[in-house]
Amino acid sequence: MAVHTIVFGSHTNILFLTKYPNKLTFEPINTKPIIAIIGGGPAALMLAAQLDTRKYEVAIYDRKKSVGRKFLVAGEGGLNLTYSSPTDELIAQYSPSEFMASSLKQFTNTDLIQWLSDIDIPTFVGSSNRVFPEQGLKPIEVLNKIVEHISGKGVKFHLGTEWIGWNKENELCFNGLKGIRADFTVFALGGASWKVTGSDGSWAQPFVNRGVNVLPFRAANCAFGVNWDKKFISTHAGKPLKNITLSFNGHAAKGELIISTFGLEGNALYALSHKLQETLLTTEKTTIYLDLKPTMTATQIKEKYTKTKLSKVTDILKEDLNLDRTTVALLKQYTDKETFMDINGLAKHIKALPITLTKSDDIDKAISTLGGIALNEVDEYFQIRKISNTYAIGEMLDWYAPTGGYLLQGCFSMGVALAKHLNALEVE
Ligand SMILES: Cc1cc2nc3c(=O)[nH]c(=O)nc-3n(C[C@H](O)[C@H](O)[C@H](O)COP(=O)(O)OP(=O)(O)OC[C@H]3O[C@@H](n4cnc5c(N)ncnc54)[C@H](O)[C@@H]3O)c2cc1C
Repeated sequence: MAVHTIVFGSHTNILFLTKYPNKLTFEPINTKPIIAIIGGGPAALMLAAQLDTRKYEVAIYDRKKSVGRKFLVAGEGGLNLTYSSPTDELIAQYSPSEFMASSLKQFTNTDLIQWLSDIDIPTFVGSSNRVFPEQGLKPIEVLNKIVEHISGKGVKFHLGTEWIGWNKENELCFNGLKGIRADFTVFALGGASWKVTGSDGSWAQPFVNRGVNVLPFRAANCAFGVNWDKKFISTHAGKPLKNITLSFNGHAAKGELIISTFGLEGNALYALSHKLQETLLTTEKTTIYLDLKPTMTATQIKEKYTKTKLSKVTDILKEDLNLDRTTVALLKQYTDKETFMDINGLAKHIKALPITLTKSDDIDKAISTLGGIALNEVDEYFQIRKISNTYAIGEMLDWYAPTGGYLLQGCFSMGVALAKHLNALEVE
């Protein structure tokens, strides 16, 4: 029996040439529509895991020799998969939340936890409501279980395959390969930080060439520069400022900061990084305010101060107010002598210590990036309006979430939402 392959458009019709005693007949067997997923990060992997492979031929292309490199990097600091909170509170963490709401409702944090458990990835909720793989389960094991699940569904992986754009026939072009046609193409190429993981934002130009608005990449969830006093930083670099509240332009974030030679970093700052970046677009520096004692009001601080048996201000701060050595040194650094000796001025500074931030850190060191495909370039199903049957999901779109598992949850939810949409399409 001879098998001939004839290509009509992007569908491949295989004609089986069957020999009967007196005549030749052709029995056409239509293969399934093809979905090409370009990029192999969390958004792509979840999409592939949820697509109906009885209906579609699904292939993942990634320029790296293995998928999920940034997912593994995320695992180095503790793989924070999602955040345990009611759905409304979860959605409120995203910006713009209206854009992310539909996906997050279709696949919530509890859905993610259940799905992970179904493929033998048990999780636990940490003390800060962050959700992690159960202790002892390494990030590479988590990734392998996800990849095994996807492979088991018949999804093909084309690794070491870099997408470089489209040719004149609108075929997908990869380095060293002939043009490829797909019925549906989903891009999930990530943002532009941690280039070593394969996500470098170099995908932007082919989209710009097709008239898609790609906004400049900027660091998010990143450190910001501070011009520290040399003596202060030589003693306190690497030290944490625990249980503080950071305020900026009417927004506040509780958490921790780490003092570094570059400036400040940590979850309290990451949470407001997109707001800070907006301001730094038009100014060279900006001021944040640190509440070093959020559990007490200024009045309570003053009461403690007036009732103390201690005489030295530094001792009162350490003994009566429980401020550590680094916090006291920071307070001294940003308070003139007169204010430091006056309880009204001192209490005011403890509750709102002004610190000037100069610039964000190098984009490559950022946990995530702002910018990418402008949200008005895609419809409610993430379909790129200017390129038919072509979608974009994950960090390559211009949305923001703070660290805390929200980024992965957002990517996974988009993958599920798009899979539901594609699975429901009536295709020939
Ligand atoms: C240090 C660090 C820690 C983090 N910690 C957490 C955490 O604890 N919790 C959390 O929620 N989030 C965390 N994140 C963020 C999270 O990892 C990302 O938001 C997430 O990986 C984005 O997923 P994605 O699928 O959109 O893209 P990516 O994971 O960036 O994947 C994109 C893929 O596309 C491929 N690609 C790119 N260009 C091409 C091309 N031209 N051709 C072919 N393939 C290409 C890349 O090789 C890559 O595999 C962390 C990030 C970093 C850097």
